[in-house]
Amino acid sequence: MKKISFGFIAVCIFCLNANAQNTPKKDNGGITPEKLESWVPVPIITPGNTNADAPSDAIVLFNGKDLSAFQKKDGSPAKWQLDPEGTVTDVKGAGDLITKQAFGNCQLHVEFRTPAVVKNSGQARGNSGVYFMGKYEVQVLDSYDNVTYSNGQAAAVYKQYAPLVNASRKPGEWQTYDIIFTAPIFKDNGDVEAPGRLTVIHNGVLVQNNVSILGPTDWAQVPVYKKHDPKLPLLFQDHGDNGNPISYRNIWIREL
Ligand code: MG
Repeated sequence: MKKISFGFIAVCIFCLNANAQNTPKKDNGGITPEKLESWVPVPIITPGNTNADAPSDAIVLFNGKDLSAFQKKDGSPAKWQLDPEGTVTDVKGAGDLITKQAFGNCQLHVEFRTPAVVKNSGQARGNSGVYFMGKYEVQVLDSYDNVTYSNGQAAAVYKQYAPLVNASRKPGEWQTYDIIFTAPIFKDNGDVEAPGRLTVIHNGVLVQNNVSILGPTDWAQVPVYKKHDPKLPLLFQDHGDNGNPISYRNIWIREL
């Protein structure tokens, strides 16, 4: 085998270096690495110990103790049942659970549990819903081994978008939604400047990827936007007729 001398290697390194220095640099329009840096301070918060824990900048809507953040549609106190284990359950005739505070763009964390004892099927099985601005529903339903129309199952944007996958847990098990909502923007004349948008993560799985909301969700109406306030209360649906009381816990929201 031929020996390669140190001298030869040194000459090679010299040649490579000289070649690199002689290569004309691309004109980068006067941009330096430093000019691409932003040093505007980023707000510091303290995240929760787990992804389910409210970070320090969240508004805790329900922490298991009281329903002071909520009211009924008529402004009277919310009547859902507080359970000893720190959950809240819909009861017959209680009406929707509506926040006192209004929200626009937000990130919401909510945990829900459909009844362990399965009584019905389809839409009559643990039906509730998270209505952003009281108008745009992310469906809550027991969709474990329960056939219904796809765009009406759990994590659907009701009657607009089926979830990408069915990530439902069994009846009686706690499930999570982490939802990013962008409110629609309206022009002065009432036209839509930008539709609302929804991203939904169900039990840690992305199921709605920044979908464009078509208008208010409704059982029997084609969605048509109608100009409304930039912030409106969040609503948890009392479906009322199904005899399948839904439970919620650990509800927090971050305004964006
Ligand atoms: Mg519903």
